[in-house]
Amino acid sequence: MATPNKNAAPGRGLIFGDLWEFDPAPETADPRLKARYDLFIGGAFVRPRSGRTFDTINPATEGKLAEISLAGAADVDLAYRAAARAFPSWSALHGRERGKYLFRIARLLQDRAREFAVAETLDGGKPIKESRDFDVPMAAAHFFYHAGWADKLEYVAPGRRVAPLGVVGQVIPWNFPLLMLAWKLAPALAMGNCVVLKPAETTSITAMKLCEILQDAELPPGVVNIVTGAGETGAAVMGHPLAAKVAFTGSTEVGKAIMRQIAGTDKKMTMELGGKAANIIFDDAPIDQAVEGIVNAIFFNQGHVCCAGSRLLVQESVADRVVAKLKSRIRVLRVGDPLDKNTDLGAINSREQLATIRRLVASGVREGAALYQSPCVLPQKGFFFPPSLFTGVTQSHRIAREEIFGPVLSILTFRTVDEAVEKANNTAYGLSAGVWTDKGSRILKMSTELKAGVVWANTFNRFDPSSPFGGYKESGFGREGGRQGLLDYASTT
Ligand code: NDP
Repeated sequence: MATPNKNAAPGRGLIFGDLWEFDPAPETADPRLKARYDLFIGGAFVRPRSGRTFDTINPATEGKLAEISLAGAADVDLAYRAAARAFPSWSALHGRERGKYLFRIARLLQDRAREFAVAETLDGGKPIKESRDFDVPMAAAHFFYHAGWADKLEYVAPGRRVAPLGVVGQVIPWNFPLLMLAWKLAPALAMGNCVVLKPAETTSITAMKLCEILQDAELPPGVVNIVTGAGETGAAVMGHPLAAKVAFTGSTEVGKAIMRQIAGTDKKMTMELGGKAANIIFDDAPIDQAVEGIVNAIFFNQGHVCCAGSRLLVQESVADRVVAKLKSRIRVLRVGDPLDKNTDLGAINSREQLATIRRLVASGVREGAALYQSPCVLPQKGFFFPPSLFTGVTQSHRIAREEIFGPVLSILTFRTVDEAVEKANNTAYGLSAGVWTDKGSRILKMSTELKAGVVWANTFNRFDPSSPFGGYKESGFGREGGRQGLLDYASTT
């Protein structure tokens, strides 16, 4: 656990970091990890035909957690064949019956919520308060929501007939491992599709634990198949001839590679890619609330969030005030042991991601922006990075254009509404945006002019299974959540 720096100047009104020492509050629930995780194919755990495995580690300690199977092309093929065999009866099942399975999965996940939260935190590095209060409950909520849709599919596209596509291939990233899995599985299954899914290499554990739940829920064999591995396994999942649709969440770079890979086939596609969201603070905004919103927007999940508010656009007249408050706020963010219930920022997910963050931060310094970092003491072991912000950022800086995917905020200023819109839209991405203002009419104007899939007003990072999420431009296409998300897993006539 990091200890607060006694020499750090306390911010006005925010001095509790130095005055109150927190007792350690470690979460102690048993994550019930196995030493080895096999592939989940045809309803059973099977050894990989490739004969290969890799280790998954705890990024907060660098200690090994478990051995994960590495699926080769033959394993992926086996998974697709199992899914194809399961499809005729799964898709023919009445929606009411499919809904019961989804409901059971949601309930079983709730039953084992604390265990899953600890496993997610150990494997991914995120603070336990986030995996406990956000990742796991939201994952269950997605299964509940789609359980409710399964017997009402005629209302997904009124007046048209909807039908499942067949077998869908899905690849997910490491930042919200269980939640991304729920976003992908729940609508696909509700619609009557069968699935082959690959989790990210560094965070496979909760996906494999969910397979235990799928068995307990007595989901018919082959409806869901999980193959673990790295990029090559992902490419095999995306390119398999039996995939009627592929759904990918990850970086824009890999998303483009997949689009090139499957160009010329008739596979449907959904791409949820990167972002560089503008969080826009007007001078009439409630500044203290906005500061909390800025902190949430960029430091939630160590900034490993595709829709993170990584570019702060603040109106010039309040910029000094906002920056001063932000600096004193980030001084008291607690960085350290992800399993401690008081921790605000846990570990960076991997050594590679830490190197990426350091590289981009160094570029910001080199290009002339002013770096401010929390003086918190970082743990000796593991992958950690202090909450950081850059002032004096211009549009051409790499830190204003590229996704850092870490706890680093780039601050720019603006004078007029038009300038805010122009700067916010001046990016290759278009996933999300935030607007902080007292004026409802300004919120409406901004939300129509901002080229972003989601625009939050006087809040940030709000999610709900009924609300479609997805991007414009290089942030991808297709939606996840809501009626629109279901439609992306259906053919309509
Ligand atoms: P990557 O694109 O590197 O990886 C995403 C997934 O794709 C992983 O499972 C990865 O496997 C796999 N993969 C890697 N190469 C290939 C390939 N050639 N073909 C198929 N699959 C492949 O992203 P990260 O895991 O680094 O995640 C961070 C990125 O994801 C960020 O850019 C972020 O913005 C974006 N993201 C977007 C979200 C959205 O909803 N728009 C949500 C979350 C993240 P492996 O783990 O082995 O590398």
